[in-house]
Amino acid sequence: MLEKIRQLEKIATRLELDHAERADLLNRAGAYTESFLSGINGMKAFVPDTGRSPRLERAFDEQATNFGTLLDTLATEVDREGINAASGGHMAYIPGGGLYPSAVGDFLADVSNRYAGVSFGSPGAVKLEKQLVRWMCDLVGYPQLAGGDLTSGGSIANLTAIVTAREIMGIRARDVEQSCVYLTEQVHHCVGKSLRAAGLGDCIRRVVPMDNRYRMDVSALEELIKKDVTRGLKPWLITASAGTTDTGAVDPLNQISELAQEHGLWLHVDAAYGGFFLLCEETRAMFQGLEKAHSIVMDPHKGLFLPYGSGAVLVQDVHWLAQSQSYEADYMQDANAGQAEYSPADLSLELSRPFRGLRMWIPLKLHGLAPFRAALTEKIWLARFFHRELESTPDWETGPDPDLSVVTFRYLPKNGNADDFNQRLINAVREDGKVVISSTQLDGKFVMRLAVLHYRTHLKQVEYLLSFLYRKVRELSS
Ligand SMILES: *Cc1c(COP(=O)(O)O)cnc(C)c1O
Repeated sequence: MLEKIRQLEKIATRLELDHAERADLLNRAGAYTESFLSGINGMKAFVPDTGRSPRLERAFDEQATNFGTLLDTLATEVDREGINAASGGHMAYIPGGGLYPSAVGDFLADVSNRYAGVSFGSPGAVKLEKQLVRWMCDLVGYPQLAGGDLTSGGSIANLTAIVTAREIMGIRARDVEQSCVYLTEQVHHCVGKSLRAAGLGDCIRRVVPMDNRYRMDVSALEELIKKDVTRGLKPWLITASAGTTDTGAVDPLNQISELAQEHGLWLHVDAAYGGFFLLCEETRAMFQGLEKAHSIVMDPHKGLFLPYGSGAVLVQDVHWLAQSQSYEADYMQDANAGQAEYSPADLSLELSRPFRGLRMWIPLKLHGLAPFRAALTEKIWLARFFHRELESTPDWETGPDPDLSVVTFRYLPKNGNADDFNQRLINAVREDGKVVISSTQLDGKFVMRLAVLHYRTHLKQVEYLLSFLYRKVRELSS
């Protein structure tokens, strides 16, 4: 038996690298990322799929592969086709970022592999994450009693908030069909997914009309709530948006929060895209009333330019989150004994989780807040600049003045179908690939949308898009 164990140990210890092997991996990975980043400005923002990925299709086997081969595979079969999320030319959907110090934060967190779920496991990691949650709570204007959790993204953060709302509002299975939820058609689709996942898919969904800037119409909301009360139904949840994905609109949060208070509804605000614009003088006033929301979602992997993998859910009273996530498990008795404060696992759908605070804490501390504020303010002005340029150019139709950093627009051709023309225009942008934008349907029309949020997006990329569009319109029209 001992012989067998020793034999297995010999093979198993290949998993432990020695100093030289570690240095080699790190050097080669560093050389790879340096080569990637030094070429980033010349790289395309979009490359169509060739469908060729022979190495990725190869099955796993018992044999080891050389790290250089793996990096080659990454270079040729992963880091080439599709949207280049690291490019400043990425102005489609809601761009993420990918701050380098965050990558280093992930590296450090992964090597020590600190468990940030319970204080007993790593009091330091838990404290660090609490600081980040506290900072975001202060940013939105929440009281000391507030709390929250760092999640993998906005969708999971929204789900956590909806589950919390359900528990605290006491919506039981038998109540679902009489319970009313209020949202606009511009709410992010993950809210619908969250409702379904939370067993609330059969709630009555009232789609609240919007004003001409795609913001929730408060008087229409009030009317709907009152009508539902008269009918003997149970209005319980309003889901508003602080920065919709499609048009970047911020709902009138202050008025909505007053209505929620008056009628005793839970107000949830999805600020996944827009939340960090609270850092900017230009847009702060629009968020007035956000502090009265019962729950809020923010996405540091959007507005703080972190690599994908960071969302946050915040609640006005941390006990709500704890109550909705409370559990008992005998095997957790050592970890939970004598805990004075909540640990992340008490406030989360997750138990084992990465120490995801470090990827956010390092860049915020390393840079300080000033460049984040400046970068976000720059994005606001880039969107305003783009909007103003198209607005003053004949035959272009622009959507509303951007609340934040999303602009919708389309070209109006002299003859022919406008939807088709704009589809051809966006195809041309994609074919060129230097920058990438996306499209959507607004009021039944095909429109293009520019979303400026990447920290590498500057005047250069926006001006390039403008000149490209003007040139293509001339080509397509002739
Ligand atoms: C991106 C986004 C989400 C979803 O967040 P993920 O991080 O992609 O899961 C939700 N709501 C809004 C407004 C968003 O922009």
